[in-house]
Parts: sequence; C-alpha cells; structure tokens
Amino acid sequence: MSTTYDYDVLYLGAGHGAFDGAPMLTAQGKKVAMVERDTFGGTCPNWGCNAKIALENAASLRRELKASEGIVEGSGAINWQKNVAHKNDIVKVFPNALQGLMEGANVDVFFGDGRFIDAHTVQAGDKQLTAENIVIATGMHSHRLNIEGAEYLHDSKDFLSNEEAPEKMVVIGAGYIGLESAAMMQAAGTDVTVIMRGDRALAGFPADYVDKLLAALEAQGLTFVKNANTTAVEKTANGYTVKTSAGDFEAGYVLDATGRIPNTEGMGLEEVGIDFDKGGIITNDHLQTSLPNVYATGDVLHKDVPKLTPTATFESQYVADQINGDDKEAIDYPAIGTNVFTTPRLAQAGVSLAEAKANPDKYDVVESDVMADWFRLVDYEKSGQISTIFNKQGQLVGVVELSEHAEDIVNALLPAIEFGYTKKELRRLVTIFPTIGYSALGDLG
Ligand SMILES: Cc1cc2nc3c(=O)[nH]c(=O)nc-3n(C[C@H](O)[C@H](O)[C@H](O)COP(=O)(O)OP(=O)(O)OC[C@H]3O[C@@H](n4cnc5c(N)ncnc54)[C@H](O)[C@@H]3O)c2cc1C
Repeated sequence: MSTTYDYDVLYLGAGHGAFDGAPMLTAQGKKVAMVERDTFGGTCPNWGCNAKIALENAASLRRELKASEGIVEGSGAINWQKNVAHKNDIVKVFPNALQGLMEGANVDVFFGDGRFIDAHTVQAGDKQLTAENIVIATGMHSHRLNIEGAEYLHDSKDFLSNEEAPEKMVVIGAGYIGLESAAMMQAAGTDVTVIMRGDRALAGFPADYVDKLLAALEAQGLTFVKNANTTAVEKTANGYTVKTSAGDFEAGYVLDATGRIPNTEGMGLEEVGIDFDKGGIITNDHLQTSLPNVYATGDVLHKDVPKLTPTATFESQYVADQINGDDKEAIDYPAIGTNVFTTPRLAQAGVSLAEAKANPDKYDVVESDVMADWFRLVDYEKSGQISTIFNKQGQLVGVVELSEHAEDIVNALLPAIEFGYTKKELRRLVTIFPTIGYSALGDLG
C-alpha cells in the first residue's frame, strides 16, 4: 500500500460499476474505500433491473394465463399494491446486504457527495480522502422534460414504487424503460398511451423487429402516438392532461421516460481536468480518464456499448485487473446480450442485423420463424422471429429474436457468439430436452 495516500483505490459511487470490482482489489491486499451519496447498491438493485423484474413477473404470468385460453382458469387480475409490496420485500435488503458484503471484504464505506479536490483527493461529505487511484462509477439519472407542468411528471424511480395502478397512464418516451413500464401497467389493467417524439422506438434494435413488437403490444391494448412533441402537462380535477403536438391525452399518472443522463455535474471534473461531454466521461481504451490515475466504469462512461448492469460489472472487474496489474490489455468488450422485458421480449447480441445486411460479403443472415419449434406451443406462444448471423467462416456472430423467450435464447447462444462456434461445434452441445436451451440450438437449423 502506498504510504502517501489514505487508500490505494477510492470509488465514487456504490453501484455495480464499483462493488463488482472492489473485492478483487482488497483480495490482493489493496486498501479500498467507496463513497456513496445516496442508497448503497445504486440503480440496478434499488430502482432499476431488480425492482423492475420483480414487478414485471406478475405481468408475464397474467399474459401467459390469458394465452392459455381457459385451460388454466381465473382472471389473473393483478393487485398492484401487493405487487409493489412484493417488490419492496425483495429489494429492501439490498443496501445493507451489499454494504455488508463490501465491509466484509475490507472496503471502507463512506456516505456523502463525492467531489474532486485534486487528482488524488476527494471531498466526501465532511471528510477529505486521498487515494492513488480513483474510479468514477457515478452512473446516470433520469432526464426530465423542461416543459410547463414538469412538476407533475414522474421518473422511473418514482414509477417503480408507485402503489396505485391508475385507470389511465401516459408514458413519454419509447426506449426500453418507457416500453417495459407501459407494458407492465397495461397488464395490470391500466389504459396506457405511449407518446413517441419520432416514429422509431428502441433505437439500436432492428426496425422490422421493433415494428412487430409495437404491433404485438398494440394488440394487447397499448396505444402509440408517433411524431408527437410533448409541450405541457396540466392538472385537472381527475388527474392530468398531457398536451402534445398530436393532441391532448388524459392520465392519472404521467411517466417521463425520455432518457438517462450521466452523473458528471458538481464533481469538480472541470477543475481537475477530467474530460467529459453529454455522453459521459471520456476515457482511453484502458478506461483511464484524461488523468491517468483516474478511471471510469459503468453508466457514467461515454461509450457505444449498451449501458447495462453486466457491462458495468465487466468494466468494474476490468479496471480492478488493470489496477492489480493482472491485465495490461486494452478493453475488449465481449458480445453483450440486451433485452427488452416486454411480452413478447426482444433480445439481441453480437453483430447487429443492420451491420450484417449492409455487409453481405462478410456475413450470412438466416431468418427463421420460431413457431416452427413445437416447444413454443407449450406455453401458448403465437408468433416469433429470429435472425442468426454467421461470418463467412461459418461461425455464429450475432442473433436477434422476438418471442416470449428471446432473452433465454440469446443467453443460450452467447457462449457460441463470444467464442465463435461453428454449427458443427454447436452440435457437440447436448442440452436438456425439452427446454428453451435446446430450442436455441434448434433455431440455428
Ligand atoms: C428503470 C431501469 C431499469 C433497468 N433495467 C435494467 C435491466 O433489466 N438490465 C440491465 O442490465 N440494466 C438495467 N438498467 C441499467 C442498470 O441499472 C445500470 O446499467 C447499472 O445500474 C449501472 O451501474 P453503475 O454502477 O454504473 O451506476 P449506478 O447503479 O447508477 O450507481 C451509481 C451510484 O453513484 C452514486 N453517485 C452519483 N454521483 C455521486 C457522487 N458525486 N458521489 C458519490 N456517489 C455518487 C449514485 O447515488 C449511485 O448510487 C436499468 C436502469 C433503470 C433506470
């Protein structure tokens, strides 16, 4: 341990970008501290992935029940208040459990707003801490529309704790947070309208797959209003009127799902010379900022890979290896699985369909109807589509699927995509039958 500084490594933020790497450092004798200004564990466990999936499970169950066409009887109505209580029971343990895990791994935990004083010093609440290396893992916060009546809007953090299922809800924005929230409330019986600024939802997914997903959600009862600019929200006797360039919409709850913004403000970054822009903190290919002893991980990074928990984990562990001296290589991102948790799901990984179609000299695309697989009938699926992408050496390099099980299919194919298996090599994988994992390999033809 350095004799000059209080710590070898200090993390700003206590989300996955921090707590997944920190124990790897203390395991090698490094002295490590973590500074968190809000709830230990950050977005994913408290008001992101874990909270969301705990609520969404009821929506999935209800849709499956409906699709069973009376074989399993009952309305499957969702008690939203109890659903939120169930979610709260699951997530309330995370802050203490994660803090305990860190302290058990000899990481010192401090609470307070972290702010750089110089390249090695951070003001953490009323303490000044020094460290040889600092890792910025401060994540993102919700973008909020700057319109008249903005005070009536809620963000995803509010939404995931809202105990009432309103009769009508307006969701502004059709990214994955907007669509997932809209779909689960629709399943709970709410009449949901999604306002889209353009005519494309889910940037980053293939347009024809997104169109089919939106059509499926529309058939379930969601309404999409495209090319609509939201201009104001007004309070009415019964709720709110959302005013847009495409008309006015009544709602008991309005969710602003217009994006996420990196947490770079008020941290003294300009003063100490750490480069950032509106996309986040700028780093080199070793995740070092413009100050070489300062790294950045997770959502706060400016990067062109999906800002997701497993990405933050990968980066956090990569930076720990860099600081430990176990890895000197530039970061080499693996294939990252991405999923939209609606029903049906839309998931993808590896080379995108757009890239494959634009480069026929490099890739072959195989399009299939997943309903050719009898197993999909067991839980009453009605439609689905998969595209698999192979390079000219016959190795699987990408996949996109729209179906009730798309996330499991993509997870099952990830090792093949990451390690470049050919169809012949994939035949050596003798999976359990009948399962979706078996279907994943069957989908390859
Ligand atoms: C509604 C929602 C659903 C999501 N669903 C999924 C999903 O299904 N799957 C998935 O993979 N990802 C999902 N994500 C994304 C996932 O939550 C993030 O990618 C992940 O949390 C990133 O981890 P992080 O450590 O970079 O940031 P965070 O988890 O946001 O942690 C950053 C921490 O830094 C703290 N902080 C900020 N500034 C300071 C400061 N100056 N000083 C001290 N502390 C500070 C914050 O309080 C926060 O606790 C979802 C996100 C949202 C919002």
